Amino acid sequence: MGKSTLMNRILGRREAIVAEQPGVTRDRKEMPASWQGREFTVVDTGGWLPQGTGDNSSMDAKVSAQSEKSMEDADVVVMVVDSQAGITGDDEGVAGRLRGRAGPVLVAVNKVDDEAHENLIWEFIRLGLGDPFPVSALHGRGVGDLLDAAMALLPEEPAEQLEAGAEPESDAGTVSVSIVGRPNAGKSTLFNRLIGDDRSVVHDQPGTTRDAIDTVVETELGPIRFVDTAGMRRRARIDQATEYYSLLRALAAVDRSDIALLVIDATVGVTHQDQRLAERIDGAGCPIVVLLNKWDLLDTEAREAIALDIDHRLHFLGEAAVLRVSALSGRGLNRLLPELRGVIAEYRRRIPTQAVNRVLRDAQAAHPAPDGARVLYATQGAADPPTFTLFANRTLPRTYLRYLERRFREAFDLGSVPVKLRVRRRSGE
Ligand code: GDP
Repeated sequence: MGKSTLMNRILGRREAIVAEQPGVTRDRKEMPASWQGREFTVVDTGGWLPQGTGDNSSMDAKVSAQSEKSMEDADVVVMVVDSQAGITGDDEGVAGRLRGRAGPVLVAVNKVDDEAHENLIWEFIRLGLGDPFPVSALHGRGVGDLLDAAMALLPEEPAEQLEAGAEPESDAGTVSVSIVGRPNAGKSTLFNRLIGDDRSVVHDQPGTTRDAIDTVVETELGPIRFVDTAGMRRRARIDQATEYYSLLRALAAVDRSDIALLVIDATVGVTHQDQRLAERIDGAGCPIVVLLNKWDLLDTEAREAIALDIDHRLHFLGEAAVLRVSALSGRGLNRLLPELRGVIAEYRRRIPTQAVNRVLRDAQAAHPAPDGARVLYATQGAADPPTFTLFANRTLPRTYLRYLERRFREAFDLGSVPVKLRVRRRSGE
């Protein structure tokens, strides 16, 4: 039915054996391929017959077992059917098995060589695997659209892989951290503490704004890029930034960072500007660690007062960590790296597609969306921050999306990390 030809199309070369007789491609073939800059592996299953039917049943059974294994391992399964043959008994069997699979499945209807034959695909909707994709493996027609859809369903590439392929000076995988707060809160003091002596500084790089400087620091968590450290390196600072200017600067830094450290001068308390800054950081989807600095200067009464202050004025931060520190003496800062490690790990987490879909299925079973709306499947499209792409048959109400978000957050223990949901319509608009 054209799997091998399709495989050749995807690989862009003649690698798989193409032959007319069924069953020639017996081996489970794995080939590296790429589409739009994304590297992935295509696995040709060599055909899969449910229940190992056919003339040579032991061979078929073996091939089927292999196919089953590769389907278990796959992020996306493409079922290839033949538009000219229509739905065969085998197709029905395979589709039945695939419907029980948690991860995404795409149906490619082959031999749709021209537009006139496109209506042949609709019969295959009966397979219950969503809208079929018309392709012509022989002519290459529709293969791009199929690959686009498959790429959208792949999980984000693991960070190590990106790092391995990256240029030495490129910093994919380096976490960007901004240190923000009001003037005089102790940002420079904190930064100088964190970098310790200059040997741990890998390099300074110009940031994106004219006078911003980023500093990459080697830590036990790996390199961390501190964003817009201009003025923080030197203890004698020249600029006496106004509140307003420092707010703008902080927001620009937050935009370029994965995590924000919000330094609050505990001797002053949580000010209106701290509050605004925290709201903006939170709104930008950037996780926050709050540092109550100058803790050494506070007496017991003041310490109690600021705890209340935090509860009142920063309650919207929910589970964000609040650390009591003294940047000057270094007290309490030993908790900062472990805290960052936790935030980074949560932020970076890539959840297996199967698990995402299991949670999705349970959530929908417990509480279906109104008006027959249904999410057919979901995948974690990006990890920074965790972003789930939901493929739905129609628009989902906001309240329902919030419900799903909550279920994902609980199931995967995402804590305070922002979670994004993107919805795509699965029907062919
Ligand atoms: P920035 O404007 O936020 O960068 O603040 P700086 O780092 O320049 O600090 C402002 C002042 O607060 C300096 O005089 C620091 O020595 C002092 N400072 C910073 N952190 C602490 C702290 O934890 N305890 C005490 N007692 N003073 C601090």
